[in-house]
Amino acid sequence: MVFFCFLVDQRRKIRRSKPVAGSCSRCGRGASVADMRTATRFCCIPFYWKSWKAIMCTFCGAILKSYR
Ligand SMILES: [Zn+2]
Repeated sequence: MVFFCFLVDQRRKIRRSKPVAGSCSRCGRGASVADMRTATRFCCIPFYWKSWKAIMCTFCGAILKSYR
């Protein structure tokens, strides 16, 4: 079953984001609330999408908080 892992990958995409109060714990810059979309692909063919919201840093990409 090990080879199976190489065929599946996930792509994370930010659909839109807007600045929110607070700062990043890693770089100290402003945080943003973002609409995220994760696509899971099998052999380069997307078969599952998940939309979620997260408070993240747009500078270093750190996820500060995520909502389901
Ligand atoms: Zn940051």
